[in-house]
Amino acid sequence: MIYIMKINVIREKRRTIALKVLDSENAVLKVPQSISEKKVKEFVDSKQRWLEKTSARMREVEDFSRSFDFKKYIYLNGQQAGKVDDVVIGFEKLSPKAKRLAIKRYYLSMFSNLERLAEKLSGETGLKYKDIKPTGSTRVWGSYNSKGLMKLNYKLLILPEELAVYVVCHELCHSLHMNHKPQFWKQLGTICPNYKAMKKEMARYSFVLKTDF
Ligand SMILES: [Zn+2]
Repeated sequence: MIYIMKINVIREKRRTIALKVLDSENAVLKVPQSISEKKVKEFVDSKQRWLEKTSARMREVEDFSRSFDFKKYIYLNGQQAGKVDDVVIGFEKLSPKAKRLAIKRYYLSMFSNLERLAEKLSGETGLKYKDIKPTGSTRVWGSYNSKGLMKLNYKLLILPEELAVYVVCHELCHSLHMNHKPQFWKQLGTICPNYKAMKKEMARYSFVLKTDF
């Protein structure tokens, strides 16, 4: 059997076996201390197909994320929209920190695009918000609080617009449901029928969210 992933086996005080894939080439397998070598091998063998599939999926996401170079290009609506050099004068000479800040400032300067989108979708759906603010979170694309403040991640500008539409619709639905219970998804389904596909597609862009600028 040829393993497609490097599996780091950790024996520890536990009763169950836990297999976690880290990336397309690495996984961690946590097993009870007393388990036999043979049992470990059997378990890994039984997960081969799943490991192969997971590895392939992760490789695709990794390749996709490598096709973006945020320090070189500006991206809008899922496409390259010019060179950072052209929008930030003297960019090359800046320190890494100043570069990040300059990139952030650029996307913040385009935030009005998201404001307009939110206004349009709010008008179309009748779902309201009181205020809108940008966020640069590396964890969430957006949020909506009980005071009606909707925060949208300026990195949404980088994504294809249909995904920004999905996130805005999602946050607008929180004006009716401050949770993710079935009624929330039902509401979202009425204004964004393809939300399940959009949610899945968002996962491919998680590297954009995690990028710090
Ligand atoms: Zn939500």
